[in-house]
Order: sequence, then structure tokens, then C-alpha cells
Amino acid sequence: MATAKSDAFVFFGATGDLAYKQIFPALQALIRNDHFDLPIIGIARSDWNLERLRERARASLREHGGIHEQAARKLCRLLQFVNGDYNDPATFTQLRKTLGEAKHPLHYLAIPPSMFETVVNGLDAAECLHGARVVVEKPFGRDLKSARELNRVLHRFFREQDIFRIDHYLGKEPVQNLQYFRFANSLLEPLWNRDHIASMQITMAENFGVQGRGKFYDEVGAIRDVVQNHMFQVLALLTMGAPVNRSADAMRDEKLRLFRSMRSLQPGDIVRGQFEGYLKEHGVARDSKVETFAALRIHMDTWRWAGVPFFIRAGKELPVKCTEVLVRLKNPPQQIFDDVDSSAVNFFHFRLSPDVVISLGARVKQPGEEMKGHPVELVAHHDTHTEMAPYERLLGDAIDGDSTLFTRDDSVEEAWRVLDPILGDRVPVHKYKPGSWGPKQADALIADAGGWNNPRLDPPHRVNT
Ligand code: NDP
Repeated sequence: MATAKSDAFVFFGATGDLAYKQIFPALQALIRNDHFDLPIIGIARSDWNLERLRERARASLREHGGIHEQAARKLCRLLQFVNGDYNDPATFTQLRKTLGEAKHPLHYLAIPPSMFETVVNGLDAAECLHGARVVVEKPFGRDLKSARELNRVLHRFFREQDIFRIDHYLGKEPVQNLQYFRFANSLLEPLWNRDHIASMQITMAENFGVQGRGKFYDEVGAIRDVVQNHMFQVLALLTMGAPVNRSADAMRDEKLRLFRSMRSLQPGDIVRGQFEGYLKEHGVARDSKVETFAALRIHMDTWRWAGVPFFIRAGKELPVKCTEVLVRLKNPPQQIFDDVDSSAVNFFHFRLSPDVVISLGARVKQPGEEMKGHPVELVAHHDTHTEMAPYERLLGDAIDGDSTLFTRDDSVEEAWRVLDPILGDRVPVHKYKPGSWGPKQADALIADAGGWNNPRLDPPHRVNT
């Protein structure tokens, strides 16, 4: 049973892309800020050695955030190396020796999901699982069936509380602030229901394409890459009920209730798009029907949310890089002033990136004789500071055994249940021009709810009303 702090960090995939971009910098930050002092055992194939792994770590730090000399030196000192292929049992025998007296290793699987079963089998056979935790990277399956299968494999070796599924979005400061802002204030809760809220929309816009990762992306697409996980998590934090306390399961129970209330999507609830030029990207099938854009309409069957539509839009090659939420409140019941015709007289606006904004939209009267007004935004919070990197927070939590910010098996499966009916090519994919807001069909999806709010970055905290 793993209730104690982990005492070794076993790093599968230490030579990979994710390790390079995120994990070495997070480990350096943990060493600097959190007195991280565990052996880090990197496992890589035969043409590597410890020196090469140290060089790789330093190169990663140089390129992603910079070297902090003292911490980088300590990181290199903590690094150990096991040479071998994951298909070879000798790799795990060697790992067992290297673990020495460690009683609570944390096995971090920054590897393709197709290798998970091989690796946990190898760990089991070499007796590396006693007292262990495992951290797995998304995707947690490709659909409901494969998600169940993945959970089945993991549960053969680990109890659910020892499995840490990383969705790095949950480690982001502004995403945590959504939850904090909702439940640390009494302001929102009386309004946060079908009586006052007309609709919610979440936009995750990227102003770039697949950035050389065409082969990876073409097997995934926008729905699997960011909607099933990041966007659904944001939606859950916006709409779930208040947890009874801050424990990991209290939070995750509320999320599960929320996912359970979501209706399974029907083809009419989704628009898929693909930017023009995608088929020429390296690694992309010439006849690919994979979506680089998705817009979805979601309904929840609860007393709180019945009848309120929720919209999610995520896409590549859109005009800006920005993630934000717009919560539209219902209009006043009676229109006394002629100029009040906007579909978003009152709204809450949460920008999650590139800067962090929490604001409330309202109208105020313009000075003068006429009863005419203009929209204003009351900015509660605007922050451009760099945040604690999500991986620093999440890996630190996993080492401590705190699973609050990790997704649970049941929620993962419920999220797939919602999306399962519209996965693959069941819904046509429409072309859109790079630099546009996606295919025009996406506008029709939300027309009855006041249309999309297309984020503008200048000025930074203004909603387009
Ligand atoms: P890469 O393909 O870059 O790296 C995979 C790693 O696994 C490499 O270190 C590779 O070693 C190792 N590996 C694979 N098969 C074997 C084997 N048989 N024996 C030994 N080593 C093996 O993948 P990523 O780093 O991009 O992704 C890893 C995981 O993280 C995936 O689950 C991915 O979905 C997830 N992820 C990645 C993100 C990213 O930005 N890259 C973002 C979010 C999640 P070698 O170098 O020797 O081939």
C-alpha cells in the first residue's frame, strides 16, 4: 500500500519529447522549490548511457526555461540510468537492482500507451510494484472500450488510489482558480443555475497547426486530443456542485456526478472542421478525415442545468492563441431601455490563457440626458505572471500521494461515454481557412444562444459583445 511519500522516481520515456519539453524542467523546479531529493532512474534503449542522459537533461533545461546551475547539477547527480528495451525482462531485473532499498517507487510512464501493459507486466515480474504508484500520461484510451481496457490493465496491478492519470490542465493555476473563485465566494452560487444562466461557452483557440507532429495528431484529432480531457475538465469545474470538503475523492465524486449527467452526444450536437493545408502536413494521411477543429453542444440532465446549453470549441490555425470561458446570464425580464439589445448584457468571463482574467460584464449609463449606456467589464483579477508549471505541481502531488488533481477511472469512462457516439467519421468534416474561426457550420450550432464570442487579445480583457 502506497500512503507514504515516494522514495524513487522511475522515469520511463526519459529520452522522449514530453520528457524534454516538460519533465526535466519540472524536476529542476521541484529540486529548487520543493527540496526534491529522490533518485531519478531514467530507462532508455541500448545506445544511451548516463552521461548522454545528463546531457539531454541539460539541453532540455537550456531550451525550456533555463538552467538554474545548482538545481541542474543536483538533477544530474540524482539521475541514474538503466539500459534496455521495455520488451526485455532483463531491463526490469536491472531496475530492481538499481531501486535498492526504495520501498515506494513512483513509476512515471511518459511512453506511448501501447507500451503500458508491457511495462507494468515487466515491473510486476521483477517485483518492482510493491508499495508503488504509477503515473500515466494521456490519452486514457481512444474511446469507451479502450479506456475500459486500459483501466482493467492498470487495476490488475494497482489500486485506483495508486494510479495518477495526468491531465496537465488540472495543474494550471487559472484552471485551479476557476474552482477557487466559485467556491471561495458566496457571490456566484445563487446565480449558478438554469434560473440565471443562459449558456456557457469554452473556446480553446490555437493560432498554429500541428507543428511537425502530423503523424501523432492524425491518429488523434481535436476531440481526443483536447476535448475529452482538458475541455471536459474545465467544463466540470465550471458546473459541478460544491464538494463536501477538499479531499481528493470529494472533488472527484462531484465531477463524476456531473459527467454522469451529461447526455451522450448526437451527430447534430457537433461540427468538425479541418484547416485547408492539413493534408499536406508531414505524417498526415492524404485522405485524412481527422478534425483539427471541433465545436460541440452539450446538455446536462440535472435540476441545476436542465435546458442550459454548454458549448465547447477547440481548433488549430485559428486567429489567436487563447483559452477562455464566457458565461452568459439571462437578460433582464423586461426591456425598459431601448439600447439594451445585446445578447450578453451580463456575463462572467474567465480567460485561462495567455493571460488570466476573471471579469463580470455589465452595462452602465453614459453621461448625458439620454438613457443610453455602454458595456463595461468589471475586472476582478488580471494576471500576466508566469505560473507554477503544471508538471511541477502534478509530479510533486503524485510523489506525495495526493490525487486531487488527477482524473479517476470512472470519470474518464463517463467522458468517453458522452463522446463515443460521435467519434471517428460519423460526422462529416468541413474545410476552413487557416486564420479563420473554423467552418461556418459551427456558427449555426450556437446561433440560438447568442453566437460565439471570438476572443480578442487587444485590449487583453475585453469580451466581444
Ligand atoms: P516519444 O515518442 O517522444 O517518446 C516515447 C519514449 O518511450 C521514448 O523515450 C522512447 O525511447 C520510449 N520507448 C518507446 N518504446 C520503447 C521500448 N520498447 N523500449 C524502451 N523505450 C521505449 O513520446 P512523447 O514523449 O511525446 O509522449 C509520451 C507520452 O506522453 C505519450 O503517452 C503521449 O501521449 C503523452 N503526452 C505527450 C505530450 C507531448 O507534448 N509530447 C503531451 C501530453 C501527453 P526511444 O527514444 O529510445 O525511442
